[in-house]
Amino acid sequence: MHSHPVLELEATAFNKAQLIHPDAVQLALVGRSNVGKSSLVNALAGRKAMAKVSATPGKTRSVNYYRANPGDFYIVDLPGYGYAKCSKAEQEKWAAFLQYYLANTAGLRSMILLIDARLTPQKPDLALVSFARSVKLPILPVLTKADKCGKSEISARKKEWEAIVAGTPLIITSSSKRQGMAELWDAILQLVEG
Ligand code: GDP
Repeated sequence: MHSHPVLELEATAFNKAQLIHPDAVQLALVGRSNVGKSSLVNALAGRKAMAKVSATPGKTRSVNYYRANPGDFYIVDLPGYGYAKCSKAEQEKWAAFLQYYLANTAGLRSMILLIDARLTPQKPDLALVSFARSVKLPILPVLTKADKCGKSEISARKKEWEAIVAGTPLIITSSSKRQGMAELWDAILQLVEG
């Protein structure tokens, strides 16, 4: 049996002033709005109704600090980006907030980038990859909703993303099928220990 840390929601921030500064490793969880981020947090935690799965994507805009125990590190769920129904100004505001967090968090070890398995690499994802590179932040790419794709589509994504994030294998997950959670936990623990 695979055992992993428990995740507990410790703090929520709606603006820069509310960001917390624990003396611990943080891993940022990022992705486009509706990518399946909340579902993944729940699947990782192994229980339901912890992160709120959105009925209205793009509405909840907060930074959620999940503390892992044991391990004493944080998985930090950041606001989704690229929600088409948000105004351009609103989108830019959140992009700036995300960049602020990524560039100014002392304990930040890596950015876990969630990617919808059905989509070829999208502009906002690629922009975030460039930004992470510019601040020398390692990226762990993770496919979500793999249950919605066939094998050939998954291997196409694998090729595309492994070319973009050279040297880092893509982790393939499905929250609804609980696929890839052990692999993702292993990668997370490696990042924290590394
Ligand atoms: P968030 O906006 O990134 O937090 O995304 P949510 O977790 O709220 O999920 C967005 C939508 O995708 C919801 O309707 C989920 O039920 C669905 N979803 C999330 N993960 C999966 C998955 O692994 N498989 C499938 N088929 N649907 C998923």
